[in-house]
Amino acid sequence: MKDTQILISGGGLGGLSAALALAERGFEVTVLEKAAEFTEIGYGIQLGPNATRILKRYGLWDTVSTSAVFPEAMVFLDAIDTEEWARVNLNDAFLARFKHPYAVIHRRDLLGAWLAACERHPRIQLLTSKGLASITDHGTMVEVHCEDGSSFSARCLIGADGLLSPTRDYVVGTSQPRVTGFLAYRGVIPIGKVFDHTYDRSVIGWFGHNIHLVQYALRAGDVLNNVAVFGSPAFARGEAEYGSPAELTAMFEHAHPRVRAMLEYISLDRHWMMRDRDPIGNWTKGNVTLLGDAAHPTLQYLAQGACMAFEDSVVLAARLAECPNDPHQAFLSYQKARVLRTARIVLTARAFGQVLHAGGVARDLRNDLYRGRAPDSFFHEIDWIYRGIPETEF
Ligand SMILES: Cc1cc2nc3c(=O)[nH]c(=O)nc-3n(C[C@H](O)[C@H](O)[C@H](O)COP(=O)(O)OP(=O)(O)OC[C@H]3O[C@@H](n4cnc5c(N)ncnc54)[C@H](O)[C@@H]3O)c2cc1C
Repeated sequence: MKDTQILISGGGLGGLSAALALAERGFEVTVLEKAAEFTEIGYGIQLGPNATRILKRYGLWDTVSTSAVFPEAMVFLDAIDTEEWARVNLNDAFLARFKHPYAVIHRRDLLGAWLAACERHPRIQLLTSKGLASITDHGTMVEVHCEDGSSFSARCLIGADGLLSPTRDYVVGTSQPRVTGFLAYRGVIPIGKVFDHTYDRSVIGWFGHNIHLVQYALRAGDVLNNVAVFGSPAFARGEAEYGSPAELTAMFEHAHPRVRAMLEYISLDRHWMMRDRDPIGNWTKGNVTLLGDAAHPTLQYLAQGACMAFEDSVVLAARLAECPNDPHQAFLSYQKARVLRTARIVLTARAFGQVLHAGGVARDLRNDLYRGRAPDSFFHEIDWIYRGIPETEF
């Protein structure tokens, strides 16, 4: 059995950001990752200023900013008649207010930046093919048993092992995520293959009744990231088979031809079910706590899941540094700082999803309410998200 100060189960964006934040506070950290390598799927991710601020703080900005794209606006379009019903400014006025930029980046570039920083850090040990199988908390020490028969012990354990977290099962009991019946297909294509360049410099979304298509450029503008989402009628009917490419095409049947044509950009070989969990008020047990999707998985409609994981990491490291000899107290203090903020993200994302996917009169009302608003007028509504955690947490 090998000893370390802190064990982290899971080496995704949450686990690696936590490892770096803790190591920077002087802790010895071991990350146990189930997969054979530290990697991410080959698609894009959006980062609000609450997250780009954190990347800067941990010295990742030079790497990240070379491949990131900094969109000038977030544009909301009607998928049926192509009307622009809202536009949020992400340019100079946004930067003046939120101090840090809005960025979109390839997930592998983002994870790669955290990974490289962790690999360079003398207090971080990164281990792959180490799937956490069970946990024993001895009070002064936590023991983790891995699927390959190896075991590790530490003063405490952080479960950053995602939506289906085994650490969460240990902490709060086993339960399944909430399955929404909405599925996502993704696609990344070279920018040269894009036939409509009207919105090249923006993050855009085409929204219709139970469908949407989000698009933005990645890798310094070389490729276009596409995410097509739809509510599956077969799932709603309780059928065992749902979410086929044929269903995707059928759901976009009522979309504008311009939107339908862009389904060509989507890769049909894989899809993802959209899932989240109801917020919980406690995700700590003894010397074990949760972080990121393991604690508060959210739907993607606010583009904040990974951003929340980064914030968790900063706060967790700060609280452990305050009482390094009592991880249980530190974990309670950390979750107290995080529960309401992350619950607000989870619940607001659900509600916003309904607005985005509205049909009939609800859609007309949405377009009418937002239409004509000045692009800077949304700053007030998004302030609570993008201002991020207090400066004192760093
Ligand atoms: C369609 C979609 C779009 C999204 N867009 C955005 C966006 O624009 N912006 C944003 O901020 N967020 C976005 N998100 C959310 C974001 O992807 C997640 O919130 C984030 O990746 C969570 O990171 P995590 O490290 O907590 O979990 P994960 O990324 O799931 O990482 C968990 C890690 O734990 C490992 N693991 C699992 N089981 C074990 C085990 N037994 N032992 C050890 N390791 C284990 C896994 O292999 C994995 O590496 C989106 C999500 C979806 C589905």
